[in-house]
Amino acid sequence: MSGNIIDLSKIEELKVIKIQSDEINMGSMVTFTSILNSEVLSKKAKLLCKAAAAVGSPQIRNRGTIGGNICNASAAADAVSSLVCLEAKVDLKSMDTKGAIQSRMIAIEDFVIASGKTLLEKNEILTNIVFKIPYIDGL
Ligand SMILES: Cc1cc2nc3c(=O)[nH]c(=O)nc-3n(C[C@H](O)[C@H](O)[C@H](O)COP(=O)(O)OP(=O)(O)OC[C@H]3O[C@@H](n4cnc5c(N)ncnc54)[C@H](O)[C@@H]3O)c2cc1C
Repeated sequence: MSGNIIDLSKIEELKVIKIQSDEINMGSMVTFTSILNSEVLSKKAKLLCKAAAAVGSPQIRNRGTIGGNICNASAAADAVSSLVCLEAKVDLKSMDTKGAIQSRMIAIEDFVIASGKTLLEKNEILTNIVFKIPYIDGL
């Protein structure tokens, strides 16, 4: 079996959590520690911070990424259930044979199809996770 390994760890754009109009957009390389420390998420999507806090230990939270947690699709993945509650979508990107970037958005509840199984194609990466800012009365 042969294949290529792509290291996403130096792509700074994938480590950003930002508000875009009425949505929160997170890069797939955002770590659980970054989620816990995010002012935006602690104000707008606290359940995701609580899920991140439940993950393993400080060492795992420092290294584990939201994208890895989703693509790994463990039945015990703490981030996935809260992202389903937030009706999050995943942005999947690939390159076609002519070098053009292709993109598709899938609801996370459709993306994870079984324990350890997702709809990720061999030539795709998960770049971003997007969800509407939940309406919280009084904020
Ligand atoms: C000791 C231990 C305890 C843990 N405890 C918990 C826990 O309590 N709760 C919990 O939810 N998780 C837990 N985890 C899992 C951990 O938090 C990570 O979510 C998981 O290991 C993924 O790690 P990673 O981000 O390094 O991804 P990787 O291990 O690098 O990737 C996981 C898989 O997803 C693929 N992948 C990763 N990122 C992308 C991307 N952007 N696009 C396409 N494919 C991608 C990789 O190719 C690989 O197949 C634990 C792990 C360990 C080792």
